[in-house]
Amino acid sequence: MSVLCCPRSTPKTAAGVYLSESRQIHMLSFSAFQKFENWFKTPINRDTYIGLATHEFAHAITDSHFKVDKPSVHAREYLAYVTLFATVPTRQREQMLLALPGQTPKDEARLSLMVYLMDPMFFGAQAYRHFMSLSHPAQIAFLDAVLSGKVFAD
Ligand SMILES: [Zn+2]
Repeated sequence: MSVLCCPRSTPKTAAGVYLSESRQIHMLSFSAFQKFENWFKTPINRDTYIGLATHEFAHAITDSHFKVDKPSVHAREYLAYVTLFATVPTRQREQMLLALPGQTPKDEARLSLMVYLMDPMFFGAQAYRHFMSLSHPAQIAFLDAVLSGKVFAD
């Protein structure tokens, strides 16, 4: 696996991408990332850049652990966003969650592909709220269900 920057196919709105075919992470440099000015509706800083990196690394790590051939987009993003929120410093996480208010989803049905496509950042915040609302044993079971394709099916 390698980290490169950035293929022409990367959308202009994306700061990073993981390509499963080549097993490569592509990320903007920090100075290029700063030109976004905001990410998760909070100012760009080193902590948000770490969040970006952990999101892409979570894609890379989870990619080889799915038990289905083609996991859904929202299954992959759920895992990457939960990782992002879980690993940024607490103060940064609190700012991001404050900037993306929402009620904690009672179940994964409220974390649909449509929600992700409409607002990926909101989906990310909601994914984290959902995951953190589960007990630890339920978190483990839910991660297994995501990796097995039992939830977030297309
Ligand atoms: Zn992603």
